[in-house]
Amino acid sequence: MQAPRGTFDVLPEDAERRQVVEGHVRRILGAAGYRRIETPTFEATELFSRGVGEATDIVRKEMYTFDDGGGRSVTLRPEGTAPVCRAYIEHGMHKLPQPVKLWYLGSFYRREAPQRGRYRQFWQVGAEVIGSAEAATDAELILLLAELLEALGVRETRLRLSSLGTPETRAEYREELKQYLRAHEGRLSGEVRERIDINPMRAFDSGDPGTREVMAGAPTLLARLSGEDAEHFAQVRAMLDDADLRYELDPTLVRGLDYYTRTVFEFTSDALGAQSGVGGGGRYDRLMEQLEGPPTPASGWAAGIERMLLATGELPTAPDLVDLYVAIADQSAARRAFELARDARRAGLGAQLELAGRSLKGQLKQAGRLRSRYVAIIGAESEISLKDMESGDQRKLHPAAVIPTILRGSRLS
Ligand code: AMP
Repeated sequence: MQAPRGTFDVLPEDAERRQVVEGHVRRILGAAGYRRIETPTFEATELFSRGVGEATDIVRKEMYTFDDGGGRSVTLRPEGTAPVCRAYIEHGMHKLPQPVKLWYLGSFYRREAPQRGRYRQFWQVGAEVIGSAEAATDAELILLLAELLEALGVRETRLRLSSLGTPETRAEYREELKQYLRAHEGRLSGEVRERIDINPMRAFDSGDPGTREVMAGAPTLLARLSGEDAEHFAQVRAMLDDADLRYELDPTLVRGLDYYTRTVFEFTSDALGAQSGVGGGGRYDRLMEQLEGPPTPASGWAAGIERMLLATGELPTAPDLVDLYVAIADQSAARRAFELARDARRAGLGAQLELAGRSLKGQLKQAGRLRSRYVAIIGAESEISLKDMESGDQRKLHPAAVIPTILRGSRLS
């Protein structure tokens, strides 16, 4: 049997690399006052159709939706922002001192065509700041993601940045863009033409040569921002400039989720192939209202764990420390060996017991593979031989002396 298409197993060596990622996330986001939140893997379908937007690819064709057996439609979460907002509303977090800064790390589900870097179950780390409209919030979030990518050694990153303004500006602009697209309909790809009314912005994403030519002359939303939105964007840019973070202004930046307002951004890595997006996000000032919560400005990002790992070079993982390997030289000693390993762990040591019935020679080899500092050899007699694997020295000890000797780390000779 095989795992379903587009899914993968996280094997122990993969899990160790992921643990390193999580360590950096905790350190970097923790230092900026973000606290972890985890929401359920499935939610009411309505949360995503309302929150992410009916017109998006995610809601139209990528969600794993099923009946929960009681006539309610539920969906495996395709993204984390709408669930975090749902939790914010449900737990009355607007009564807490604002903003509320949160991060999450978990698995998400989209029925996409699987390829390298694109899976049907994937993992994201995300950060959200809820209850602040400040430009500094957006700049902070972007800088934290940049710091995380740098800490992980994600190679050849680029940051694209834009602003979508308010929904009203966007609605006016959409009409203008639709008119423009209709005026050039003959040169657009069939797919883009069909979706002029549903989602004209996606025309900027098209790889079709004719469409690309048309879009090169299309009006941009960035040029239509209202005074306040333009000022907000200028502030975000100034803070990124002050931090010496390089970015490309990209007025065509379209993200696959409908809830964004004002700032949007995306980090890509040229070390990746077609699926080059490692993480992105933006401001979503109206989402909370769409979910029937109090009007609350907010901003956030999500980054793909697999994509970040694909785009890093060597990510050094700390090997598990084994202080003691308990070898069994005679079967009559099996229970004493078990007890010694247990006592050693209780004393805070990393201890492993022979569990595969190897010969004594095989056990010493195994202890070497695990890079254990010491091996305790327990045989029929009551004394235990303790071997220092680095120096090769070996000494017979009273059983009660084994753990203290290791704890002292003293040399055996
Ligand atoms: P999004 O939620 O679409 O803004 O995606 C944020 C990040 O999640 C992307 O930049 C990717 O790194 C990652 N991501 C999104 N979809 C997938 C997928 N199907 N497989 C793997 N990673 C994904």
